[in-house]
Amino acid sequence: MYFKNFDRPGSLINLKILAVRESLRAGGGSSLNFLTFHALTIAAIAMSCDPYISKGEQPRRGTQSEDLMIPSGFEYHRPSSVQEAVALLAQLGEEARPLAGGHSLIPVMKTRLSAPEHLVDLAGVSGLKGIRQEPGHIVIGAMTTQYEIIGSRLLAETLPILRETSLQIGDPQIRYLGTLGGNVANGDPGNDMPAVMLCLDAEYGLAGPDGQRRLRARNFYLGAYDTARKNDEILTEIRVPAPPPGHGYAYEKLKRKVGDYAVAAAAVILTMTNGKCTTASIGLTNVADTPLWAEAAAWALIGTGLDQAAIANAAAAAEAITDPAADGRGPAEYRTKMAGMMVRRAIARAKSRAQN
Ligand code: FAD
Repeated sequence: MYFKNFDRPGSLINLKILAVRESLRAGGGSSLNFLTFHALTIAAIAMSCDPYISKGEQPRRGTQSEDLMIPSGFEYHRPSSVQEAVALLAQLGEEARPLAGGHSLIPVMKTRLSAPEHLVDLAGVSGLKGIRQEPGHIVIGAMTTQYEIIGSRLLAETLPILRETSLQIGDPQIRYLGTLGGNVANGDPGNDMPAVMLCLDAEYGLAGPDGQRRLRARNFYLGAYDTARKNDEILTEIRVPAPPPGHGYAYEKLKRKVGDYAVAAAAVILTMTNGKCTTASIGLTNVADTPLWAEAAAWALIGTGLDQAAIANAAAAAEAITDPAADGRGPAEYRTKMAGMMVRRAIARAKSRAQN
């Protein structure tokens, strides 16, 4: 018996990956997490009996407990161009995965919940790194690391919310290798950048065998670990409309400990003119299967002076669209309330930063 690839979108496998993710992140957390993880792992093993064994083939992968922190065998590919990477993905099919920083992919491979036969490493692909300004937009290469985002002077001046968010992702070791592209392509509702991208109305550039296309982040997330990216496409860049100078911004994240994923988090971007809120956008992290764009919550702010009543209305509208899981981060009701609390805090801080 051995594992097949598990991380195909839209399947029960996503549940298992979430359970493992929870367990990995729990770091000795609650017993509920631990038990849930083991129950789902046993279910995963039971469901993944490989039919080839009964046909007499040799198993390629072991499931002995001592193997469980060592990824199963895979072939490593290191293309040097986007075209080469796309051609490899098309040729190798569903058994291939792009590899960026590896900080989400490798952990699920170690637990054998994902066992891709081919890794297509994007580290040697030219043109996937870097941050540049175009008229009206900031364009960030998919392989740009969170560390590079934190250090970018251009982003500090034009999109400071990206620096603020990056500083709240994992720890320095994660941020040195973890990429913006990997963070937004992963499809994990716990990743911090997707909600920020919904808030900013970013577009994702995708390259595939049929050429290039752009997709709004707001249309990209379909479910947990399920995105609109096709298997043979590579995310090449993230295009963010530059908010006006003097905008207010904040990313507020509640976490159990330093380096943890969010119990709930909120991204807010807004502008103020003569004491009134003229534009607003709000994104929510880890309170549903996908990141959420809280459109009604933002509308509750526009035209107001961001007084207590307006902020309370926005928080209530944000809470109304959440559908969080009850897990090691707390019961669903608590996480919903914390989403509202993060929205309140983020609006207040964004207001304090906005120039009238
Ligand atoms: P990888 O792990 O290499 O890839 C992730 C997925 O995206 C894979 O399915 C891969 O095939 C796909 N992919 C990657 N790049 C591309 C591309 N260019 N085109 C198409 N598909 C691609 N994240 C947070 O947001 N917040 C946190 O607080 C946080 N804490 C963490 C704590 C720990 C201990 C660890 C290990 C990770 C944590 N992370 C957190 C995750 C981290 O930010 C990852 O780096 C990120 O989720 C994935 O980026 P990556 O470059 O490592 O991608």
